[in-house]
Amino acid sequence: MTEDRHPIRVLLASANRNKLREYRQILAGTGVRIVSPSEAGVSLEVAEDGMTFLENARAKAIAFSEAADCPVMGDDSGLAVDSLGGRPGVYSRRFGSMPNDKGRMAYLLQEMSKAESKSDSARFICAIAVASQGKVVFETERSLEGTIAPAPCGKGGFGYDPVFIPHGYSATLGELSAEIKNRISHRALAAADAARFLTESNA
Ligand code: IMP
Repeated sequence: MTEDRHPIRVLLASANRNKLREYRQILAGTGVRIVSPSEAGVSLEVAEDGMTFLENARAKAIAFSEAADCPVMGDDSGLAVDSLGGRPGVYSRRFGSMPNDKGRMAYLLQEMSKAESKSDSARFICAIAVASQGKVVFETERSLEGTIAPAPCGKGGFGYDPVFIPHGYSATLGELSAEIKNRISHRALAAADAARFLTESNA
């Protein structure tokens, strides 16, 4: 991968190390360089109290862009399971008030076992809003369709990856390589949209 000589610096409005790592891998070579809040010297807590992924992404992008000297990418993501009526959705990080990913996956499988519908269909969703000086200038929402595995498998990725089997594969995102995940994921598709906007508009 070649290094970009004059990359467009974009602040990611998130301190989540897993997301930061994935965005950096996804955007390598696109001309967009992701800067973390700590690297930019910006420290903010933005409440994730929106009803949709896009509302939360916008709120983070707007708040951080008022404190930053470069464009800001706010994102929100999560898992929507059909048999649970779209839950956990925007509550993915707090599902069942469980303290960790293992607990959240166990809670998810337990909730699905109690659901009337026996469908295992689900999707990961990622919304990205780009803001500059307090104003949203671009937004996108993308998804990755798949099914929920009967039990967690694999140690790769993060969050619900060990229980998510993307369509077209017979293994979970926890078992598939980071290279595959970062080519097909909800985050990869949304980030590619944002990178296209940033490089074409030179925001
Ligand atoms: P947030 O976007 O930081 O609010 O976190 C959303 C939550 O959704 C994460 O903490 C994970 O539990 C879950 N999630 C979002 N994207 C992914 C993914 O790519 N793999 C697995 N879990 C994810």
